[in-house]
Amino acid sequence: MKRPDVVVVGAGSAGCVTARRCAELGLRTLLLDRKEKPAIGDKVCGDEISRSHFDATGIDYPSGGEVSTSISGADVYPPSMENILQVRGWTEFDGWTVDRSAFGQRLLREAISAGVQLNDRAHVGGPITRDEQVIGVEYRDMSTKTEHKVSAKLVIDASGFAGVIRNKIENELVEGEIAKEDIALCYREIVQLKMPLAEPEVARVFLGGQIAPKGYGWIFPKGPQQVNVGVGITGGEGRGSPKALLGLFKETYPLLFDCTVKDSRGGAVPVRRPLKSLVSHGVAFVGDAALQVNPIHGGGIGAGMRAGIVLGEVAREAIARRDLTARGLWPYNTRFLSSFGRRLASLEIFRRLLQAVRDEDMDYGFEKRLLEAGDLMAANKGEGLSLSAVDKLRRVKRGAGRMRLLLSLQKASGLMKKIDKAYSEYPRSPDGLDEWNNSVVSMVEQASFERL
Ligand SMILES: Cc1cc2nc3c(=O)[nH]c(=O)nc-3n(C[C@H](O)[C@H](O)[C@H](O)COP(=O)(O)OP(=O)(O)OC[C@H]3O[C@@H](n4cnc5c(N)ncnc54)[C@H](O)[C@@H]3O)c2cc1C
Repeated sequence: MKRPDVVVVGAGSAGCVTARRCAELGLRTLLLDRKEKPAIGDKVCGDEISRSHFDATGIDYPSGGEVSTSISGADVYPPSMENILQVRGWTEFDGWTVDRSAFGQRLLREAISAGVQLNDRAHVGGPITRDEQVIGVEYRDMSTKTEHKVSAKLVIDASGFAGVIRNKIENELVEGEIAKEDIALCYREIVQLKMPLAEPEVARVFLGGQIAPKGYGWIFPKGPQQVNVGVGITGGEGRGSPKALLGLFKETYPLLFDCTVKDSRGGAVPVRRPLKSLVSHGVAFVGDAALQVNPIHGGGIGAGMRAGIVLGEVAREAIARRDLTARGLWPYNTRFLSSFGRRLASLEIFRRLLQAVRDEDMDYGFEKRLLEAGDLMAANKGEGLSLSAVDKLRRVKRGAGRMRLLLSLQKASGLMKKIDKAYSEYPRSPDGLDEWNNSVVSMVEQASFERL
């Protein structure tokens, strides 16, 4: 394709969905990925994806060989492993674990059928810019070992955590480096268990410093006797190795004794609110490259797919209007950030609270049910931690032994509401961005619970 309208860098879930939407809407779309075609979609992951994302985007549910198993419900374990919180009917979580490679290949096939041209083994080095406008990308064709340049009206960075375009753009709209505390380092294994799972549809989540300091451990069923087990931790320097922590977990949790490892790999995922702007001049960001990930559980497949649909539509409109400046692309910001992005942002506050709570306080909170399954589900839906007056009183009585914890909960609840409101008022144009972002950053900085 000589003169594409759109070049999408990265054929992960976000890139494939975005490229497909662009092509469906009549845009000449080139998709570049450094991997060979059959390896596209093979990504280290927990493999869990909620049905709600498919309902929201109209993308077909996983089926046939893509499905490892159905998921309905999660058990959340506090550090003591007692007083487990059983979350059932969590529509924002329930869905499937998938064969990541088969799922990714299906999204790729759908993009190609819609008219997208894929150049695989194309390693993108960075953007080509003229003044502040991105006008194309440079890439190396790994098959022929030749260098290429391709121009496009719009470049979309869907390169995942690497953010290969985003990291090479310097202007006030684009956030480059992400703080270490906002990155989860993960290690996961697919293992065959010695015994069948008692509840093969229920995911397990483990909190506490022993298993995953400032993060969590997970066991997601992949079949009657197979699971995806992993550990993800945040926190910058001195956080330890998730691989070593997973090793310890396997030595202490009986279900995992003597299991057989089928596959093991590490990876990283951003767990912050999305980028303050998802666009700049001639360029837009989607998926992990845009930090579109749920900050409490690190799930990003769904968020990236949702954003990809919006971005495809905005790209078409901007190209039709011939306005590929940040202003012309701004509707992607307003449409995504004031809806799903808003939910992700308020969950960053919740993540900061969870990370600050000491293990003994966490155990106490679980024992006294200071947080209930409904709270978790409401928070994840973006409804905050809105407790009724009666509820508050009831919990104050139950939590009397830990006023510090209750105050933290109350503070988090207030900040979640504030940040939610700020996102609902996302600026209508780049002019108001600085002021808006300063107020959001100040809210995030207030979400420091250690001081209480
Ligand atoms: C251990 C772990 C567990 C997770 N568990 C879950 C889970 O259970 N559920 C969930 O929803 N999410 C989970 N996530 C997060 C989820 O995997 C990501 O949010 C999601 O895959 C991001 O999709 P993406 O398309 O943005 O990026 P990616 O899937 O990373 O795709 C990026 C693509 O860009 C290509 N690329 C990168 N650099 C270049 C370059 N220079 N040139 C050309 N191509 C390039 C890559 O080859 C890749 O194909 C997990 C993440 C990790 C690390």
